[in-house]
Amino acid sequence: MNILIFGPNGSGKGTQGALLKNVYHLAHIESGGIFREHVGGGTELGKQAKAYMDRGDLVPDDLTIPMILATLKKQGTGGWLLDGFPRNTAQAEKLWDALKAANMKLDCVVEIDLPRSEAKARITGRRICARDNNHPNNINNPAIRPSGAVCRVCGGALSTRADDQDEAAIDKRHDIYYDETNGTLAAAHFFKKLADQGLTRFIRLSGLGDIEAVKTELITQLQS
Ligand code: AMP
Repeated sequence: MNILIFGPNGSGKGTQGALLKNVYHLAHIESGGIFREHVGGGTELGKQAKAYMDRGDLVPDDLTIPMILATLKKQGTGGWLLDGFPRNTAQAEKLWDALKAANMKLDCVVEIDLPRSEAKARITGRRICARDNNHPNNINNPAIRPSGAVCRVCGGALSTRADDQDEAAIDKRHDIYYDETNGTLAAAHFFKKLADQGLTRFIRLSGLGDIEAVKTELITQLQS
């Protein structure tokens, strides 16, 4: 199963993505995570990407698109969950062309819908567990509020991501996401149109519920 997931920063996309990955045994291809690995490893790509990431800007397409297409090519026949890519119409078109050229099926596109103000509150409240960054902790979301200063799942130390506390960067990321003309929602609409032509499936669900409610809705829709 090959799945593409959309959702604004703060919508729980990472959490739902990790669940989908486990249920369907998918490789989780997360563009932001791949960039962070490059930055951490001090690679040439990481050095070039860092300044854009620190500002909350998109890394230019000529760096991002080849990186993701190369990662997809390496997947072979195993299923994947692509998360964080595409974020604009150019990336969406290139991805669709590459999938067609590789004869790779896109089984489903998932869009988690969340109002912008709610997404922002969730980002500033997000806390990252030192042991597993998929452990959900958020001081602004009662359903996953950490127990004191430690991770609610494993008791690991918690920290914030620098770009989660930078309001200008958050707004910039949301400007890109909620842009229906050329941004990430435009990319999502590109796939919605393909779904209307029967070329993939498109599932839109609300991210307002708690993790379990969103997960149940997602799995129900995927299996229907
Ligand atoms: P994220 O963890 O998804 O918020 O990604 C962190 C940062 O990586 C973003 O703010 C961008 O600078 C960069 N990035 C991730 N995915 C993409 C993409 N598809 N296109 C361009 N830049 C990206």
